[in-house]
Amino acid sequence: MIGIIGAMEVEINTIKSQIDDLDKVKKGIRTFYTGSISGKEVVLVLAGIGKVNAAVTTTLLLEHFDVTSVINIGVAGGQNGVKHKDVVISSEVLYHDVDVTKFSEYKHGQLPGSEPTYIADKTLLNKTKSILDFLQYNYKVGRIASGDQFVYSKETIKEVNSEYSDIYAIEMESAAIAHVATMYNVPFIIYRSISDILDDENQAEDFDKFVEAASLNASKVLEKLIGVI
Ligand code: SAH
Repeated sequence: MIGIIGAMEVEINTIKSQIDDLDKVKKGIRTFYTGSISGKEVVLVLAGIGKVNAAVTTTLLLEHFDVTSVINIGVAGGQNGVKHKDVVISSEVLYHDVDVTKFSEYKHGQLPGSEPTYIADKTLLNKTKSILDFLQYNYKVGRIASGDQFVYSKETIKEVNSEYSDIYAIEMESAAIAHVATMYNVPFIIYRSISDILDDENQAEDFDKFVEAASLNASKVLEKLIGVI
């Protein structure tokens, strides 16, 4: 079955309404919604905000359900030319708030015992791209960086920006989800719609203004993607 994770209610509400034969089951501290979308078995869960919430929830998902791919949808801050409501799909995901570089063998964002980035599944990536092309959405394929901060300035993430030139989306969960999925050897893809732009004056207001539309747009794409995986 396909596992879908969102951090906030607003990000999962539309998807929940798309699930046929909706059922709910509690595993550990999280409630999982099961059923089908476009005839495919799915399980949807609300993770909460931040890396620990994301990791705990992904672990419960992968321990309790027979999940063959993990999809994380939601919103993110944008940089490097992306605009509100544009979509960023992950080629790779990394932490922007991990720094073990005092030991010279590690890159910014890399934890000892892990690779510097977590690599998304190529098949899921290409299928998502085809859907976005078909819907004529503006999108970028690139890196997504996560940390336990609402990032409002590029200054905050200058270390990872100096390492990688294609980080288009910054948010708070996806690297933790990708990290756990990678540990369990389950393919993943992250799909984020831009709610706010780093270094814009009205970033918090923009987040509130765009979060609903961005979430709705992610749900539309997800419905189509599930139909083809
Ligand atoms: N207003 C919310 C908090 C939102 S935190 C509340 O009070 O509950 C921001 C959420 O959106 C996180 O889930 C994160 O993944 C994403 N996000 C959007 N823009 C972001 C940014 N600029 N920096 C970090 N996370 C961002």
